[in-house]
Amino acid sequence: MELESLTVRTAIDGLRKRQFSSVELTRAVLDAITARDGVIGAYLWVDEADALKQAASADAARAGGADALLLGVPLAIKDILNVEGQPCTCASKILAGYRAPYDATVIARLREAGAVFAGRTNLDEFAMGSTTENSAIQLTRNPAALDRVPGGSSGGSAAAVAGGMALAALGTDTGGSIRQPASFCGCVGLKPSYGRVSRYGLVAFASSLDQIGPMTQTVEDAALLLGVMAGRDPHDATTLDRAVPNYAAALGGDLKGLRLGLPKEYFVAGLDPEVAQRVQEAVESCRRCGAEIVEVSLPHTEYAVATYYILASAEASANLARFDGVRYGHRSAVAAGTPLEMYLNTRAEGFGREVKRRIILGTYVLSSGYYDAYYTHAQRVRTLIRRDFESAFMQCDALLTPVSPDPAYLIGATAEDPLKAYLIDIFTVTANLAGICGLSVPCGTTPAGLPVGLQVLAPAFDEGTLLRIGHVYEQVREVRS
Ligand code: GLN
Repeated sequence: MELESLTVRTAIDGLRKRQFSSVELTRAVLDAITARDGVIGAYLWVDEADALKQAASADAARAGGADALLLGVPLAIKDILNVEGQPCTCASKILAGYRAPYDATVIARLREAGAVFAGRTNLDEFAMGSTTENSAIQLTRNPAALDRVPGGSSGGSAAAVAGGMALAALGTDTGGSIRQPASFCGCVGLKPSYGRVSRYGLVAFASSLDQIGPMTQTVEDAALLLGVMAGRDPHDATTLDRAVPNYAAALGGDLKGLRLGLPKEYFVAGLDPEVAQRVQEAVESCRRCGAEIVEVSLPHTEYAVATYYILASAEASANLARFDGVRYGHRSAVAAGTPLEMYLNTRAEGFGREVKRRIILGTYVLSSGYYDAYYTHAQRVRTLIRRDFESAFMQCDALLTPVSPDPAYLIGATAEDPLKAYLIDIFTVTANLAGICGLSVPCGTTPAGLPVGLQVLAPAFDEGTLLRIGHVYEQVREVRS
């Protein structure tokens, strides 16, 4: 048995039955990282001794009668979430040397449930990007095709899971960063509804859009992890006080009685025909499982990318103002006459090109004279996009769409063209703008062997429906290429 390829569910069962220990399981994951990650580059940081120490204390707790759900299960964490005592670089030079002084709420909850934090995964700097090529630290390759990107920004987490170097991982999704890399690498990714999972301890990119979610091998594993992470948190006033269902226990059955909508604006010219074919086959599978398929319209889709990049950049420009070289991270060594000069030198040295582009764009759309033309306008369009979904969900229970218009790109293909890199987010940014939940489930590969993802979108706080659809589909999926 290859322990490092177990799902979270099978690892929980094996640990409970004492078929292996957490130390053995964690050792297997660490060995897989040593063997494979030199080529893939999914991890930015692994501390073997620390991971094994956490695993040993999980084993000791179990020997003493403890039986928390994730006791002894190792997880990979995107390097933008604070885990006490571990570095948190956001793949940026500006956070060099920083160590997290506290646990993010999701980490505290997973820790409480017994999880082991084995390592930290690569991302686009501050989660800005769709290929992980904007990491200031290293390149990550797609395990399915080494000359291709893993997607982004949670590309390290997706590559770790798909490459057999993590049972499961956490990612973050501001405009698609969980769902798109999951689809590029061939794993499951869940973006929870805004307010379902606490953002406390996540280094903020765009606070009105960011969400943390699981990246896993199966839909059941996503349900298990979401169940641990979700719920009201006094540290994040945007979390809602709604009961957290037992998502995993509710899985099963078929799709009878469900109406699934195909938004016509998501099946248009520009969608890669091989991707379109895989998604259509997945839609047919859902129909065979009892779902009724209807066509719906989300008429403001064409404005989504522009709206997203105005709002996300505006929020980023404010959130990233805190990185000034004073309290933590990088500080410029260049002699500075005034504090302002020191800030400017530090930020010029510490931030990469894409992050600077967003700060400049965001500052521009918020500046007086332009604020109404761009920022206020984009807020209004955001409302229209949210209403599009509200009326679509009056006609159906969930939507089925592609995740990305293309399969994974060749390394370098989008790097020199930021506009192209923004436009490919068209099918994912809408869920963040509307605050709804979205799931990416593998639905086969292109003839060249590149994974394709099916996106399922459901109304806010209806993760249960999302997971049920994904799980049923996963059981009947015939993986084609
Ligand atoms: N690709 C999008 C961006 O660059 C989304 C990133 C994300 O979800 N963090 O902003």
